[in-house]
Amino acid sequence: MKFTPKIFPILIAAIVESIEQNSEEITLLDQTLGDGDHVINLQRGLNALKDQENEIAVLTWPEAFQKIGMTLLSTMGGASGSLFGTFFISLGKAAKAQSDLNQNTFSSIYFESVEAVKKRGKSDAGEKTLLDVLIPVVSSMNQSCKDDLALLAFLENIEQAAISGMQSTRDMKATKGRASYMQEKSIGHIDAGARTCQLIICTLVKILKLEDNKS
Ligand code: ADP
Ligand code: MG
Repeated sequence: MKFTPKIFPILIAAIVESIEQNSEEITLLDQTLGDGDHVINLQRGLNALKDQENEIAVLTWPEAFQKIGMTLLSTMGGASGSLFGTFFISLGKAAKAQSDLNQNTFSSIYFESVEAVKKRGKSDAGEKTLLDVLIPVVSSMNQSCKDDLALLAFLENIEQAAISGMQSTRDMKATKGRASYMQEKSIGHIDAGARTCQLIICTLVKILKLEDNKS
């Protein structure tokens, strides 16, 4: 893998900034469909990661993913905390079995981790949750691997899949989480967790593209 966890402080700073810039919008989304705490939960987790950035930067990827997951699990709270935590802990476990992380192996460990989130949330695509961003990204990565795309195109396709996945939640009826209490009234609003996942993924893509350009 050309990127190592040394890049973590840059990634976390960019994610913190992106979530901060969009915090009012995210709060409004979670107030509309839920209880309004999603951005606070996420920021609690991100701040804890920021505090650990130097420790994480010297780990291997499997160790880093595991530590990120444990930290999010123990600090975030909310339904999203256990889902974000599960995602990264699974990523750590699956990454251990890979000798190198490249587009193909990352796609495979990402797939396993999304499966773990589905299990944890007892949820799937089309239920108006963060999975409606995570799942289209799986399909995008699979297609990019089949097409043998270079890193730049691989990243750009992920970005597009995350954006259209986030937008697709607007017309869905929520059937999981607090938003499901709204029933039909949940239609017409973007899901807060889908929006934060999309922002995180797009920020990661932006930074990785910049770093890729440098090398
Ligand atoms: P809470 O719902 O406990 O207040 P948050 O506000 O932090 O937690 O997170 C809400 C987000 O979590 C939702 O917008 C949705 O994307 C996601 N979510 C909630 N329940 C589930 C579930 N069962 N499966 C997948 N995602 C879920
Ligand atoms: Mg909430």
